[in-house]
Amino acid sequence: MATATLPSFPALTSDEHADVCIVGAGIAGLTTGYLLTRAGKSVVILDDGPIVSGETERTTAHLVTALDDRYFELERLHGENGTKLAAESHAAAIDAIERIVREEQIECDFERVDGYLFNAPDQPQDLLDRELEAVRRSGLTTTKIVDRAPLASFNTGRALLFPRQAQFHPLKYLAALAQAIVREGGRIFAQTHAAALTPEQFRVTQQNATERPGTGTHLDNEEPGIYVDIVSGEPLFASSDKFESGCGWPSFTKPVVPAYVNELRDTAHGMVRTEVRSTHGDSHLGHVFSDGPADRGGLRYCINSASLRFVHRDDMEAEGYSAYLDQAENVR
Ligand SMILES: Cc1cc2nc3c(=O)[nH]c(=O)nc-3n(C[C@H](O)[C@H](O)[C@H](O)COP(=O)(O)OP(=O)(O)OC[C@H]3O[C@@H](n4cnc5c(N)ncnc54)[C@H](O)[C@@H]3O)c2cc1C
Repeated sequence: MATATLPSFPALTSDEHADVCIVGAGIAGLTTGYLLTRAGKSVVILDDGPIVSGETERTTAHLVTALDDRYFELERLHGENGTKLAAESHAAAIDAIERIVREEQIECDFERVDGYLFNAPDQPQDLLDRELEAVRRSGLTTTKIVDRAPLASFNTGRALLFPRQAQFHPLKYLAALAQAIVREGGRIFAQTHAAALTPEQFRVTQQNATERPGTGTHLDNEEPGIYVDIVSGEPLFASSDKFESGCGWPSFTKPVVPAYVNELRDTAHGMVRTEVRSTHGDSHLGHVFSDGPADRGGLRYCINSASLRFVHRDDMEAEGYSAYLDQAENVR
């Protein structure tokens, strides 16, 4: 993972319009983005981490038509036509990478090599024969059995030889592909989480609407945990600071971290109020008033349920919120 330097990209901070928005800047998203920009489409690619920080970062870099799940198993599940599709699409993917490497002159150690599939010691000997038959029926007719794979240090026993597989350095390849996307007019944003919002969540967080009092899903929630931005996932409020204000919206005495919530003067609807928005996601959350419990700071953060997702204390560690566990006590 530390063997190549990937370009970094900013977070998305304002509205963007494009023919296609791709979520995820791994090998699938960047390849799709590259092909679409080359086809003349305007493209935006979003990733909630740095680019290529998902599964693609960890691959062992084999480009193969020899499939982990075995052709005879694929044939059992999807028939001969299914295996033909799999063989053709994997071969086409390797060809496409080879073509892009050549056209873009990407130095990523791409080379065609033979691939070998051999049994684990405890696997039945006829497995390779069954696989060879299914592989040939899929159209990969040059695949054959050899006595052993050419590994000097280890006798593999009989092996299936798949000619013209390939290997490359995926991170070097994708670093260049990202730059080619930008050159072609594509826009890439990192640290930007894509979320599916209901119409109500969209109205509240993006159009500053207010949900009807008494209707929000989190109003009566007394479970321990934290409330995160429904759009960005940033932690906002904790159950320890929740209280029943009687106003009809979930109420909190303070944010989990003051810097995560922006306070802005709001003069809409003939009133002067203080609007609260999430700092990173810039979602409208609600307003803050100075009629909260005096013994707990005197503030009432009056928040729309629609702008929040609740993470129960039991799930906080798994979801990466363990830093806030000490604030996820019962509602007081
Ligand atoms: C150890 C290992 C070895 C492997 N070896 C090989 C191999 O040799 N050959 C091979 O062909 N395959 C191999 N694979 C499989 C291969 O790596 C994956 O199939 C491939 O990388 C998947 O690419 P992807 O772009 O679909 O997903 P990812 O690389 O995981 O990209 C998805 C991206 O989407 C982002 N994302 C997800 N949700 C959101 C959201 N809501 N908002 C914004 N961004 C979001 C993530 O941050 C991530 O960056 C291997 C996998 C592993 C783990």
